[in-house]
Amino acid sequence: MKATAFHCSAHLSDTELLPVERACPFCNSEARLAVASLQVNPSVDLMRCQRCGATSASRMPRPQTLERYYGNYYEEQAEQVTFDRPERLASHIVRNALGSLGALGGRDLMIVDFGGGDGTHSVLAARQLLERGARSVRIGLIDHNQTTVAVDDARIEVVRATDLAEIPLGAADIVLASAIIEHIPHPREILAKLFAALRPGGVFYARTPYVLPLMKLARAAHVNLDFTYPGHVHDLGARFWNGVAEHLDLGVPIQIIRFTPSIVETTFDRHFARTLAAYVLKAPSRVFKEHYGLVGGWEVFIRRTPAEAAGN
Ligand SMILES: [Zn+2]
Repeated sequence: MKATAFHCSAHLSDTELLPVERACPFCNSEARLAVASLQVNPSVDLMRCQRCGATSASRMPRPQTLERYYGNYYEEQAEQVTFDRPERLASHIVRNALGSLGALGGRDLMIVDFGGGDGTHSVLAARQLLERGARSVRIGLIDHNQTTVAVDDARIEVVRATDLAEIPLGAADIVLASAIIEHIPHPREILAKLFAALRPGGVFYARTPYVLPLMKLARAAHVNLDFTYPGHVHDLGARFWNGVAEHLDLGVPIQIIRFTPSIVETTFDRHFARTLAAYVLKAPSRVFKEHYGLVGGWEVFIRRTPAEAAGN
């Protein structure tokens, strides 16, 4: 593997790759079309699923390949810009989840933070839930990264889990899967477990990159926009997230409560040009919705349908 940094694509050899997969890793449909090439010799293409709208690599990296790739990633993580002001993302999530969560007064809440790094975002979200009246917040944090953010509030408890099987079913008020699904070669079972972790009325939040339209535009202009394969193995836009309840059949009744271009990651004072570009690219999508693809990423808030609304 050539690339060491997380933000660069690596060229993978045949032995680093799993065989070609015909079925969509999200919905199992074999109705897929090649829409872009990720590498040649051996060739890996981006395949767009006609059924669920997910775009995924035609060959996935072997687990050992990803371990090596992310081994480098964590050594270089200090260099990584992820979110300029994590409190912005936390309040965005809490604000949009509140309508579904109901009154928080005196309640003991649970957050599952899948792929949440050191727990920065979920702890900030927990603080806001406490400010809004919750009595305590327990966070189940699952990530390869084993450092945990310091918490100085006894009402917040962070519990590290190594596997989703350790997370109780039907108990979480909020499940976070922020910028993680795109990294997982076969995410269907994980998505099903994340939805099963929600209590009825609980809210699932995900954001994922959607760069294919930008990549095509960049290629037409002879600019290389890197897909960062095998770091990213999926590209998930509005059509995928909007249809997730209909096409994935993940075992629990769910409703989309909000799906939009993802919150801009950077702020004007820290990364002016990048932030401006992100706002300018995302603005038309407020009008054109899923017909406008140049957003860079989508986010979705999904509610597990409360029992009374699901009719049981
Ligand atoms: Zn599919």
